Amino acid sequence: MRLVDVHCHLESEAFRDNLDDVLAMSRRAGVCKLITASTDPSQWAVSAALARRYAMVEYAAGVHPWYCPEETLPQLSRLPEAASGAVAIGEIGLDAKTQRFPLALQMEVFTPQLKTAQALNLPVILHCRGAFNEMLQLFKQHGPPPGGIFHNFSGSPELAEQFMEYGLSFSLGGVLTWRNSIKRVRVLRRIYPDHFLLETDAPDIPPVEARGTVNTPANILYNLKAAAELLEVPAEVVAEATTRNAIRIFKLQL
Ligand SMILES: [Zn+2]
Repeated sequence: MRLVDVHCHLESEAFRDNLDDVLAMSRRAGVCKLITASTDPSQWAVSAALARRYAMVEYAAGVHPWYCPEETLPQLSRLPEAASGAVAIGEIGLDAKTQRFPLALQMEVFTPQLKTAQALNLPVILHCRGAFNEMLQLFKQHGPPPGGIFHNFSGSPELAEQFMEYGLSFSLGGVLTWRNSIKRVRVLRRIYPDHFLLETDAPDIPPVEARGTVNTPANILYNLKAAAELLEVPAEVVAEATTRNAIRIFKLQL
């Protein structure tokens, strides 16, 4: 079985001392590629270095809406260069539920990144909470990104439908193992097989089976198992579909 973890944060302090082991474990779990996403300009070089050092790692460059003080704005001119070896622009997006930065500033930081993705023809890795309409608005105003995913998608099946019309897909991780949301199952059934991908968001959002621990990409197996149960499709078949989607969207070579 070949799996791709399309969203994790290997730059995290949590992996500073054990990344070799974490990656070896994920390889044993069947993960053959991971996309690590930077969250602010200080991580861009770190992410790129990880991708150079480990053949199984690819990276995304971007500024996350939780880490976008105004000083970030002038730094966005360096994004095209930072993304020169990247498979995506990310993690970028809008978060109406955070108190950290006003949505207006988040939009100001998001828009040039959307334009960079368009200029470089790179897919995006999107974080979006409570601001799907604002995001649709920005797509209407500036044009949609050239493909990509919403990671940890929390919207409705109807919203998923709208974003699929823009050519976007969706990755889900630990939340699948909560097995508690009818809405999520409806979304999952709507986006499977061609618009569903697997992620871990490691070191965050561990599956219930690993609650209380630092999440690692090897835990993707729990997410796969939960997705297979919810879809009532064999895990091998789900693995194949999600890996195929990852290869297509991020132009990966496994
Ligand atoms: Zn993330």
